[in-house]
Amino acid sequence: MVDYIGVSDIQRLVGWLGVGPFLERLAAEIEADYRRWEAFEKSARLASHSPVGVIELMPASDGARYAFKYVNGHPRNTARGLLTVTAFGVLADVETGYPLLLSELTVTTALRTAAMSALAARHLARRDSGVMALIGNGAQSEFQAIAFHRMLGIRELRVHDVDPVATAKLERNLARLPELSELRIVRAASTADACRDADIVTTATADKRNAVILTPPMIAPGMHLNAVGGDCPGKTELHPEVLARPGLSVFVEFEPQTRIEGEIQQVAPDYPVTEFADVVRGHHPGRRSAGEVTLFDSVGFALEDFSALRFLHGLLAEEPGARRQVDLVPSLEDPKDLYGGTLGVPARPRLRRAG
Ligand code: NAD
Repeated sequence: MVDYIGVSDIQRLVGWLGVGPFLERLAAEIEADYRRWEAFEKSARLASHSPVGVIELMPASDGARYAFKYVNGHPRNTARGLLTVTAFGVLADVETGYPLLLSELTVTTALRTAAMSALAARHLARRDSGVMALIGNGAQSEFQAIAFHRMLGIRELRVHDVDPVATAKLERNLARLPELSELRIVRAASTADACRDADIVTTATADKRNAVILTPPMIAPGMHLNAVGGDCPGKTELHPEVLARPGLSVFVEFEPQTRIEGEIQQVAPDYPVTEFADVVRGHHPGRRSAGEVTLFDSVGFALEDFSALRFLHGLLAEEPGARRQVDLVPSLEDPKDLYGGTLGVPARPRLRRAG
């Protein structure tokens, strides 16, 4: 039997820890894995593009565990009542090749993306950052808001979306969280208005084109940019001149993948960037001065999903709630008798509570 985490299990696990502590612990797991960068077998994700979206497979392994995520990105889905991003994944044992955990990763992707964004900002944003602009108020936005309030002490959020219904949803959801009672939420009239006086700007918009969400006049000295929405070829959020700004330092997850998918797909292949792993391992100082503009060109890297699956699997052992398992792999008395042990006997229940 293989451990199984569905959407209701994630609700239970996050509810048990609390979303803030969950994000903190997940960020610590991601950071720990980035510190062991050399231990990982890394590859850019395998993407299958269509005119309306992308479906991707994201594998990573540290030699003891192997993980992969299936994820899609379909910006027009919301108009059909569907999510832009959905995902699921598997954690497996390298020794036997057996899957250990099959998990939902739609909610988990939002959690891990927010944890990763806030983790990067801890190393790259000014320590006195208190105001964040949040452009794009869709599915990812609450997670980003909670992570930045919890992990960076953001006390004012300046929110903007071309869809005012999305912004109203974000405001409503955040207002329900007692731990955010000290977070001031200001609705901005435009992206430029949201960015005014912001220390950090997070963009999490969805549009399958080279969108221009941030332009040079919106960028002020000392800002940290957390660009989440530009994450596949032909899908970016920054005006190319933002990348040409003197003194801008760009940080990426896994350089070969970000060159294809990130904001830096818009610039020359030798444009200088720093991998985040170099920052957490002390090979690069991260932010070097209060006036520097830093950009985390986030696309989402398989190592973060590996960390999330590893964390979730460990949490199942800690949490007192019911643990579920699925019969994803046959359990046989004689491993050579696949027929006799499966098609030759009556079917047993497919999903069960672990004992
Ligand atoms: P979503 O469709 O739920 O929300 C996107 C929001 O952006 C919508 O409310 C839309 O109205 C708004 N928007 C579109 N164009 C805009 C504009 N010009 N100005 C302001 N707002 C605009 O999508 P989501 O699940 O929240 O994902 C947001 C983006 O983040 C997507 O592009 C997704 O692919 C990306 N993403 C990246 C990572 C990562 O690791 N980097 C992880 C998950 C999602």
